[in-house]
Amino acid sequence: MTDDHAAHAVSAYGSAINETPNIDRLAHEGMRFDNAFCTNAICTPSRAAILTGTYSHVNGVTTLATPFDATQTAFPELLQAAGYQTALFGKWHLGHGGVHDPRGFDEWAVLQGQGPYVDPRLLTPDGPVNHTGYTTDVITDVSLDWLDRRDRSRPFCLLVHQKAPHRPWRPDEAHGDMYEGVDIARPATLRDDYSDRSDAAAAATMRVARDLTATDLKEPVPGGLTPDEELAWKYQRYMEDYLRCVASVDDNVGRLLDYLDAHGLTEDTVVVYTSDQGFFLGDHGWFDKRFMYEQSLRNPLLIRYPRRIAAGSASDAMVLNIDYAQTLLELAGIADTAVPERMQGRSLTPLFRGRVPGGWRRSIYYRYWMHDDSAHHVRAHYGVRTERYKLIFYYGEGLGVPGASDRVFPPEWELFDLKKDPDELHSVHDNPAYAPVRAGLEQELARLQRRYGDEPAPAQAA
Ligand code: CA
Repeated sequence: MTDDHAAHAVSAYGSAINETPNIDRLAHEGMRFDNAFCTNAICTPSRAAILTGTYSHVNGVTTLATPFDATQTAFPELLQAAGYQTALFGKWHLGHGGVHDPRGFDEWAVLQGQGPYVDPRLLTPDGPVNHTGYTTDVITDVSLDWLDRRDRSRPFCLLVHQKAPHRPWRPDEAHGDMYEGVDIARPATLRDDYSDRSDAAAAATMRVARDLTATDLKEPVPGGLTPDEELAWKYQRYMEDYLRCVASVDDNVGRLLDYLDAHGLTEDTVVVYTSDQGFFLGDHGWFDKRFMYEQSLRNPLLIRYPRRIAAGSASDAMVLNIDYAQTLLELAGIADTAVPERMQGRSLTPLFRGRVPGGWRRSIYYRYWMHDDSAHHVRAHYGVRTERYKLIFYYGEGLGVPGASDRVFPPEWELFDLKKDPDELHSVHDNPAYAPVRAGLEQELARLQRRYGDEPAPAQAA
């Protein structure tokens, strides 16, 4: 798993801006999921959702300020109890000390919080250990070392959690020259003016043109540029470093896949590549994530397992990050009776045959809780997405959640017709022609909230 790696920066997903040959191997030799979504597009909550197979309101990790109680059941400890050797290396970002430390792993070594790009100190059960080198390489080094030291008579589950390509996007020397002199293609919505939508979109402070800091840009903005030229310069600067960090991740994915090849493990190992959520790569004029808009909602998800998945296959079924836990448990042969009832996803194995089975979900529920945080000012919202439509409700308040501000805004709705408006530029919520669609989506939203046990915000009832 990587951090903030958008699917549209993976060449297997048709990236217009980079090549990821090693990650692409998993698509060419396995299955590409074309509609994989997260349930809360921000680091800590997404990680808790993945480990526990539950929504944020169930696992309690709604924002960056709500550390994970790791005594709740998560998939690694169930694998461990079933005889798997388990390990976690890299980013944890779910809190530290006591009940917040990783649990269910024979061995773990994790960054403190976000961790640095260079010379990381890794926390372990026996205390911190200082490492020298580029963090993406170091995390892979310790992962490969563990693979070499493991008991070869028992199965294993290894979580390699890269911190890259998270802000502030510090590339290593090996990739420091990539994209020099290359004009990186700009997204169609880079100059989004946020009209025709909620005030929530305009209020966010994650604009490439305005909100990247000197730390992000690393070079002074050249003098004498027009506003358009300055935006183009900042976009190029942002993407150069982001994509260089991705290139290092890709190299290191290659090292792991090479290890499996060299040790005869490829045929019988399930390899999953994903991110904790997507990212805006200049889309809507933004960097960062959080919104239920497509680029942050979508995860890259590639699964290779030669025994069960045909090479080069793809699925357009709607899948969620809360599905990963049950998928891995089923693949490990752990009986349904051992899977906690609180898990809210479903195993993806029925999709491996390449068809979407009858009864598969036709809609997804999403909720972002970290209302109006001081750095990004993205307002709390929830919503429903179907194959064609997306309904979003910005309920205007933080509801007392840690990490959310106490500012209150008027509630707002957005409705997008993704077929006619895939870029999500024009809300049709107040268009009378969409009234029946809107009513259907409101019902579906209520159904999903009941199903998952989440509460509608007071503003909706009003
Ligand atoms: Ca993240």
